[in-house]
Amino acid sequence: MMRCPNCQSKDIGKIGTNQYYCWNCFVEMSISQGKLSLHQVEEDGSLSSLDDLFEEQDLQLDGT
Ligand SMILES: [Zn+2]
Repeated sequence: MMRCPNCQSKDIGKIGTNQYYCWNCFVEMSISQGKLSLHQVEEDGSLSSLDDLFEEQDLQLDGT
């Protein structure tokens, strides 16, 4: 079960292929090559990347 790297919530819904949404902190997550990418949805509907806020290890799936 994945957790949101931003808020540690498990309240995550699938919104598409390799795309997830955290209902707790409202960030969108996408998975590519075993790595999470986080985006925040702005009020105008655009996406801004949150990846810079996290360490590489926080974005690894099933982090070891
Ligand atoms: Zn979250």
